[in-house]
Amino acid sequence: MGDAGIGRPDGQPDVKDKISVNLSQEEITKLDADMIFVAAYQDETKNAEDPKAKFQANPLWGHPQGQDRGRQRHHVVHRREPPGRQRDAHRPGQPVRRDPVTPLSAFRVKPRDSGFTRNRPCHHRGVERSEATWSPAVLFEPSGSRLLCTLCPTGCSLADGQVGACKVRRRSGDTGETATRATSVRHLDPVERKPFYHVRPGAQTVTLAAPGCTFRCDYCVNHRISQYGRDHDTWSATPVDASAIARDAATRDAFVALSYSEPSLAAELTLDLAAQGARVLWKSNGFLTPQAADLLAPALTAVNIDIKGTDDTRHHRLTGAPVTPVLDTIRALHAKNVWLEISTPLIPGICDSPRDLATIAEFIAAIDPAIPWHLLRFTPTYRRAQDNPTTPTALAEARAIGHKAGLHHVYVERALGEEGRNTHCPTCRTPVIHRTIWGLARNDLSDGTCPHCATTIQGIWR
Ligand code: SF4
Repeated sequence: MGDAGIGRPDGQPDVKDKISVNLSQEEITKLDADMIFVAAYQDETKNAEDPKAKFQANPLWGHPQGQDRGRQRHHVVHRREPPGRQRDAHRPGQPVRRDPVTPLSAFRVKPRDSGFTRNRPCHHRGVERSEATWSPAVLFEPSGSRLLCTLCPTGCSLADGQVGACKVRRRSGDTGETATRATSVRHLDPVERKPFYHVRPGAQTVTLAAPGCTFRCDYCVNHRISQYGRDHDTWSATPVDASAIARDAATRDAFVALSYSEPSLAAELTLDLAAQGARVLWKSNGFLTPQAADLLAPALTAVNIDIKGTDDTRHHRLTGAPVTPVLDTIRALHAKNVWLEISTPLIPGICDSPRDLATIAEFIAAIDPAIPWHLLRFTPTYRRAQDNPTTPTALAEARAIGHKAGLHHVYVERALGEEGRNTHCPTCRTPVIHRTIWGLARNDLSDGTCPHCATTIQGIWR
């Protein structure tokens, strides 16, 4: 899913580094060694005239024609060296790419002896390799001699022993089972990084991600876990104890976020976490059936859903699924008072035309103009490694389209600088929340209202 990576192209400590130093030894050891999703070129590029050139010139991206010649382009680099010592050093004039997954050694905080032993660490991610553990699942119903999965609109009708199209749900006898009571990731993130901008700014999230996705997006920066069972066959996840996670989150006054892969596939874990008192956030593709939305809405505090297009055919080409059920889920969750934020990656040729963006903005505004809309810069990676990144100009134009449609809050995380991240009062336009790239700089809200004109700003502020 959309929340992408960390890593400062200038080599300075980033948000993750700052968070890491506050962790205990055990937590550091468990830290997601794998999930440093490099998005280095996405740093402040407000004044970049040619963002592609800036992207290509960034030394943090590995060189596809260097030491790693012959590998697939998106598998090029597995280490991050200090600036100036990149293993796949950039050659001027040559395109550079970097694998979005980097091992624990990239962190400045090294794992210390905590007594925690790893079981055959995966070579590129440092997480445990193991077999999937299957447990009873919700949202299955008999259909003749078959068992019908009603979690997502794919509607797999399974014979005994058959695995669904998502590869993480299956039939066993008369029971549906899931492999998603597990996680490939366990780390602390700021809530802004999911992204949620109207959910307790500055709060932390205990972030988990089970392998699997109902989409097959060809630009997925997290494809190593999301495309389990398709492009990647290694199960790299460990079982999750929902009560322990909920206690941990409560101790930190943190949310629990399911992100990076598709959280709706972890429906059972979501229900367990909520039953244990955790406040659960999803970064989701929204590809749910109405039954699933009904069942899961009460367990969800907030959901950020991607709208990746408006045309079913083009959306299907990009993701392997139509967009209509996504729009239905957004309406359903909003009707059930789940706090929603929407993200749209500006993907060249798929979802970047003014008409597409206006259609999305008008759809959101028709539901509620106070729903925040996050415009995401497209990252050339995976099967779209050859495409151009979104230009800052295109992001600025898209932001204007959102405002013209009547949306109160349209955000651009990095390419437009602080102005793109700040929350403004929709009435008097006073900036009321100031953000860094992945954190809170200053919150001037007074009990959820503008300190200047007392307009209520919608969101979850406590
Ligand atoms: S969640 Fe998986 S098993 Fe269920 S319908 Fe969707 S793809 Fe099929």
